[in-house]
Amino acid sequence: MIALLLSDRCTACQRCIAVCPRNVFDPGPAVPVIARPEDCQTCFACELYCQADALYVEPTVDRLVPVDEDAVRASGLLGVYRRDSGWDEWQDDPRYPNQHWRMGEVFARGQADQQARQAARAPSLSATPSRPWPDEGIPS
Ligand code: SF4
Ligand code: SF4
Repeated sequence: MIALLLSDRCTACQRCIAVCPRNVFDPGPAVPVIARPEDCQTCFACELYCQADALYVEPTVDRLVPVDEDAVRASGLLGVYRRDSGWDEWQDDPRYPNQHWRMGEVFARGQADQQARQAARAPSLSATPSRPWPDEGIPS
């Protein structure tokens, strides 16, 4: 689940707000805030779209796991998922193989988690199709 938004790196581009399928972020006075972390489905979309590498999604899906911000900063993990997947400006960089095809498992896991939560909250709505993956309307 989403764990960190590093305000000193954030450029306030608002992309994370636009792409998050679970409405986890709210606009803040300066940079977005993680307003509803418990709604995160661990899809990593915000990390992929954050060109400032200001977000860290902890890979545990079913609960919030506290993370040490200093350890994350020192780990080299910030932005690594975006780069190693060949996303965005890295897509033509031969150092990073384009591995978009591997994301299907992540998205499927997020979708299953979303459906389970929806069923738990409102069983009568559990057959409602999941919100589609955001592929349009991303601020440039
Ligand atoms: S996508 Fe990254 S840089 Fe843009 S507002 Fe969100 S955290 Fe800040
Ligand atoms: S990992 Fe996905 S659901 Fe969680 S905050 Fe980021 S975009 Fe939203």
